[in-house]
Amino acid sequence: MLQDQEAHAAEMERTFIAIKPDGVQRGLISEIVNRFERKGYKLVAIKLIVPSKEFAQKHYHDLKERPFFNGLCDFLSSGPVLAMVWEGEGVIKYGRKLIGATDPQKSEPGTIRGDLAVVVGRNIIHGSDGPETAKDEIALWFEPKELVSYTSNEEKWIYGVN
Ligand code: UDP
Ligand code: MG
Repeated sequence: MLQDQEAHAAEMERTFIAIKPDGVQRGLISEIVNRFERKGYKLVAIKLIVPSKEFAQKHYHDLKERPFFNGLCDFLSSGPVLAMVWEGEGVIKYGRKLIGATDPQKSEPGTIRGDLAVVVGRNIIHGSDGPETAKDEIALWFEPKELVSYTSNEEKWIYGVN
């Protein structure tokens, strides 16, 4: 059944995904990008940056009361982070499924953390946990002009849009 163009456009979402310094240092960029690409999501922004500690604190502001907050912010600002925005139907929720549980020991095999990480403090990847967070995180990490809107030739094959 072909999906109507308007219905497809209404379902489109964007999420913020970041490969943390451990994932970058371990040479896992192409492996992780490949999983999102193969699934059928569209990359709309990407950059490699070393965030400051203040920036890391903003990114993780929801966790500021947690005992691991300081170490987590030190870690995120310790080296290059690959910041990305991915677009697709249901990408916020399903992106989290591709990533797996926060603790890699509890992540299913087949997920990014399940396959590629061992401990919670070095779980290699971040993904927005809901629509509001996605909006806030994209705005924190990217200028609007860094988000690239384009039509991919694969979309009609991925979504069956007529
Ligand atoms: N974290 C940690 N110890 C914990 C829980 C979380 O070091 O006990 C780190 C871990 O790197 C995690 C990040 O804090 O990815 C953010 O925690 P959150 O609960 O938001 O998990 P996520 O959304 O990344 O799965
Ligand atoms: Mg989180």
